Amino acid sequence: MSCIFCKIIDGSIPSTAVYEDELCYAFADLHPQAPVHVLVAPREHIASVDDTDQSDGLLLGHLLWAASEVAREKGLAKGYRLVVNAGEDGGQTVDHLHVHLLGGRPLTWPPG
Ligand code: 5GP
Ligand code: ZN
Repeated sequence: MSCIFCKIIDGSIPSTAVYEDELCYAFADLHPQAPVHVLVAPREHIASVDDTDQSDGLLLGHLLWAASEVAREKGLAKGYRLVVNAGEDGGQTVDHLHVHLLGGRPLTWPPG
């Protein structure tokens, strides 16, 4: 099993846990792009949001809810951004589905 996020989730690679439950694990990004930069990943290995189908809807919704819960816990009352990169053009570099939570500074739009 070579997936780096699966290894983070099973504890064989260290990470800074932010939130976890039976469906997902949230941890601090190694190279934060904002004062708060957390990744929320499903415990189940799914390579990309592009590999999901309708039966994954509850899990996908849970990831968004968990990210918003972390945002509330982090006190991001002024706002934040949730991002899911998919595939090469989407800028995905780790092939294990994850939601980025970015906050703690004003974020520009559009992204690069
Ligand atoms: P992507 O580019 O796939 O949307 O996001 C992957 C994210 O994973 C990047 O923001 C990158 O900094 C983060 N990342 C890559 N390797 C590690 C790691 O070993 N530990 C942690 N905590 N984050 C990582
Ligand atoms: Zn994985």
